[in-house]
Amino acid sequence: MEARVSRNIHLAALFGAAWIVSAPPASAQPKDAEPATRQANAQVLPSLPFSDRTDFDDAQRGFIASMPDAIMSRDGQRTVWSMKPYAFEQGQAPATVNPSLWRQAQLNNFHGLFKVSDRVYQIRGLDDSNMTIVESDSGLIVIDTLSVAESARAAIELYYQNRARKPIVAVVYTHTHVDHFGGVKGVVSEDDVRAGKLQIFAPDHFMDYAVADNIVAGNAMFRRSLYQFGTVLPRGERGQIDAGHGKNVPLGGTLTLIAPTDLIKDSYEIRRIDGVDIEFHLVPGSEAPAEMTLYFLQLKVLDMAEDTNHTMHNLYALRGAEVRDARLWSSYINEALDRYGDRTDVLIAQHQWPTWGSERIATFLKKQRDMYKFIHDQSVRLLNRAYTPSEIAETLKMPASLANDWSARGYYGTPSHNAKAVYQRYLGWYDANPANLSSLPPVDQARRTVEYMGGADAVITRARDDFKAGNYRWVATVMNQVVFADPANKQARELGADALEQLGYQAEAASWRNAYLMGAMELRNGVTKLPGIAASSLDMIKAIPINLVFDLWAVRLNADRAEGKTMVINWTFTDVGERFTLNLENSALTHLRGKLAAKADAGFTLTRATLDSILVRQTTFPNAIKAGDIKVEGEPGKLGELIGMLDEITPDFPIVEPVQAKP
Ligand SMILES: [Zn+2]
Repeated sequence: MEARVSRNIHLAALFGAAWIVSAPPASAQPKDAEPATRQANAQVLPSLPFSDRTDFDDAQRGFIASMPDAIMSRDGQRTVWSMKPYAFEQGQAPATVNPSLWRQAQLNNFHGLFKVSDRVYQIRGLDDSNMTIVESDSGLIVIDTLSVAESARAAIELYYQNRARKPIVAVVYTHTHVDHFGGVKGVVSEDDVRAGKLQIFAPDHFMDYAVADNIVAGNAMFRRSLYQFGTVLPRGERGQIDAGHGKNVPLGGTLTLIAPTDLIKDSYEIRRIDGVDIEFHLVPGSEAPAEMTLYFLQLKVLDMAEDTNHTMHNLYALRGAEVRDARLWSSYINEALDRYGDRTDVLIAQHQWPTWGSERIATFLKKQRDMYKFIHDQSVRLLNRAYTPSEIAETLKMPASLANDWSARGYYGTPSHNAKAVYQRYLGWYDANPANLSSLPPVDQARRTVEYMGGADAVITRARDDFKAGNYRWVATVMNQVVFADPANKQARELGADALEQLGYQAEAASWRNAYLMGAMELRNGVTKLPGIAASSLDMIKAIPINLVFDLWAVRLNADRAEGKTMVINWTFTDVGERFTLNLENSALTHLRGKLAAKADAGFTLTRATLDSILVRQTTFPNAIKAGDIKVEGEPGKLGELIGMLDEITPDFPIVEPVQAKP
């Protein structure tokens, strides 16, 4: 029973990311581009400034060396990262890829160690994100440590092979997303940090958000992230080619975390680190809940963390996330432009390539600033004029000055789903039309709709004509209805898959392409099996506040099994001096911190370390009790009873077919 608890606090449930999947995908049979897709993609070429090759120059500028081989996992068996599968991305775009996305995929293909400017280096393309290295007076300042220890270690080794092997005097985490800190133990050791040999800087509230941000809905986020990143899709002209602001997320590496030693708490804070003056600028609630940018005063380098990119970023991530504040995000970019614009020689970020020259930097910052502000303001303008989310998304057209700017194109976020995010931020899921207030759920709705439309065969016959005419959005919608009415209808699944696939081939956003192609693959083959679940990350588990562990149980409480049950359990954690009362009644599990109940069914006394080893499955509650690591008062069976009421959750639920249709 305890296994259930621990299994669900594994990496996937923690961070909703895709690096635990280790096996190749089921074999989909992707088809070729249809005539309508060929035509749509051909029309992209004359509509955008493809002759401007500045980004290609910038992405290769200062190249020193790269590593030819894949990065392996700790056991030497598993490939954590390799750019080799993307070697096919050469020459003109194939018919199955939007040429604008093909261009972006080629740009994200340049990888290795690059010299940015005097004393500033970047390792790009050895992970989804960048590692920036600044050479200080006697050592190195490392900004962001990639997603996993393996890629971070490979990155720093690549640097050392080409530059002097100096000690790391400081690490900076720019923000709370795992691709910016998860590899920290690949570059520094916890012992050295504890011994004060180096400092770790991070924005205020870093640990709260780094650990807790995505944990409660982590299982769903993980499953959905497979759609966003296309992690389990085959690589290729008919498969995954990019993720938008990087290639993908590493697979099966070691996710680590060392708590920061120095938090930046003021909006602007200047620190001298080994002779290098850095002004930190806090930008909370923009791309991440806790984030900061860096300006290097002597070096005239501005590091915008992830608040500027060579793509439109997400106001809403398709994997599922709280929506971000476009107004605030834009205002931070504006402040950076005002404060640093005329004294910056090179702008870097923690994804993709730099921008050189103050004039170009100012232009870049203005476009990034206005791209988010435009979407925010125009979406609000339209929602105040009665437009609903899909109507806003359809109506909103970026102005030509932004639409023709490569860095403002939507490869990761899109104007469409970002506009819907703005609506959601202010007005939520309800469009105020009472016909939509309590409409039938998907299966009921689909069955009745298909019946009203004359039955599945009639719908499919008409949809085939629409498919020939290139009306793929509509075909995908109606085939979704037929599949939800009858998931065993193979014709509907095939035609639905074909439509999604053509939409994927036409998509400019990597995130949309991945989502469409994943949907097509799963309509054809069923839900993707995820055979390789990596071990939990002990660093992450240790960092979860105990109250959150109880909430993770609470959100798995099966209301039917808990019906009519009551229970009070006292918890005492001796090493951290924490006490909790856990209370079950009314099918709700609540806890009170700092208190023990006078009358409890059971009481458990243990250390936080024991809880951690249970959560990472090194032991179980019964074994820990037997070993004397948990002292029990009252009825020890109560815990088993409680855990028996918790749902098993696994990240393999259906998305493009009803939940009831289990394989
Ligand atoms: Zn990132």
